[in-house]
Parts: sequence; structure tokens; C-alpha cells
Amino acid sequence: MRLTVLGCAGSFPGPESACSAYLVEAEGFRLLIDFGSGSLSALQRYAGIDAIDAILITHLHCDHMLDACTYVVVRRYDPAGPLPPLPVYAPMGAAERISAAYSSEAEPVDDVYTFYGLQPGTFPIGPFTVTADRVNHPIETYGVRVEHNGSVLAYSSDTAPCDPLLRLAQGADLFLCEASYLDGRPNPPDLHLTGGEAGEAATKADVGRLLLTHLVPAWGSEASTVEAACAAYAGPVEVVRPGARYDL
Ligand SMILES: [Zn+2]
Repeated sequence: MRLTVLGCAGSFPGPESACSAYLVEAEGFRLLIDFGSGSLSALQRYAGIDAIDAILITHLHCDHMLDACTYVVVRRYDPAGPLPPLPVYAPMGAAERISAAYSSEAEPVDDVYTFYGLQPGTFPIGPFTVTADRVNHPIETYGVRVEHNGSVLAYSSDTAPCDPLLRLAQGADLFLCEASYLDGRPNPPDLHLTGGEAGEAATKADVGRLLLTHLVPAWGSEASTVEAACAAYAGPVEVVRPGARYDL
């Protein structure tokens, strides 16, 4: 299983990165997890514009799904003919949300996407075994655990500290975890993690490696976030970058 980071800026595009989008590949199957603002550009740079077999959208905030609207044009109006419908695993309401954002007529996009409603549970996507569970964020949001041939990638999506996050990440080889806020500040509750909280979750879940993502350059300090994470977790920690690849 290979993870390629397409975008990792938290909440809105940053000066060096699009918003959240992660390509997960195995056995020639390419699963795109989240499709945030600006990440369609990075998809072309690091993978290929039609190089995906399924999409999983963890929640319907713009920074995790908006380029699924832009991508309608790519698949519907290809000069060689429409591309086949793509499976999209997303919270209920994704079809309506993407339709509404795509055009003022709210035209259906079911010629482009086949939607499957996410619910807590375990299910296959291509060669992957995916477990999704609700995490602690203001709207319906799923953290995910992706397994393939005994390797485990866990992804927090957006969340404040919660038990489902620890279950999803338990023993993961790679824990891709958001760290939006700085420690030591009165941050809004039930929204995001700090670097320290990401480190605490990594320790409690006994993960092999912590990959920090969804940092917000305009709000935080990468050095402080990493320092706080390392103070709470003794394993390897790094902040992901667009184009970074991890094999597991
Ligand atoms: Zn969010």
C-alpha cells in the first residue's frame, strides 16, 4: 500500500499546499481519500487526472470535498467521451451537496459519480478493507482505517479528541492525524486537535509512526506543533508535504 499526499493544508489552501487529499494505492487500484480545494491540481502533478478508481469523502466541509465539484467537468466532458461513473463513498447528502455547488441549476451528477452512503462499519473498496467511524467534528465526519495485506493506515479526518479515533488508529503502521491548532490556547471545542493531542492519540493507539497533517499555516507554528506532538509521543513524527509518498 502506498500513500501519496496531494494536499495537506488545513481548513483552507495554504501558500504551499492545496487542501486535504490523499491517494492510497495497492494492486493498481487508486483510492482518493478526500478531495479538498485545489487538490485537483495536485492530482495531475502527482498521479494523473483520471488516475483514480474510487473516492472516499470523510465529510462535507469545503476543504475536504469541493474539488469533487470541479472534477465533474473532467469526467463528463472529456473530448474522447465521458468517463465511466466513479464510486464515491461519502456521508449522506453528498450528491445533493456536490450538485448544488457544481451548478446553479443543481443538476444531478449521477452520470459522473455513483454514491454510497458512509456509515460506521467495515467494508471493502477495491483491494482495501476500510473501517469508518464517526469522529468529533461539528458535522457528520468519518475517520478511516485502511488495511491491505496486514498493513494499516489510519486517517483522523477532522476531529477533536474522541474514542473512535483511538480505535481506528489502534496499532496502525501510519497514523495520518490532523493537528490544526496550537497547544496552550483556548481553541474552539469539539472541532480539531492540537499537535499535543495528536501525539497523545498516537501514544494511546500505539501507532508505528505519526504523520501530522491539516496544519493551518496562517494560524499556527509548525515547529510548535511538532514539538508538542513529540512531547506526547515517543515514536517518529513528521509533518507531511504535497508529493510526499509513504510505502507500507
Ligand atoms: Zn472539517
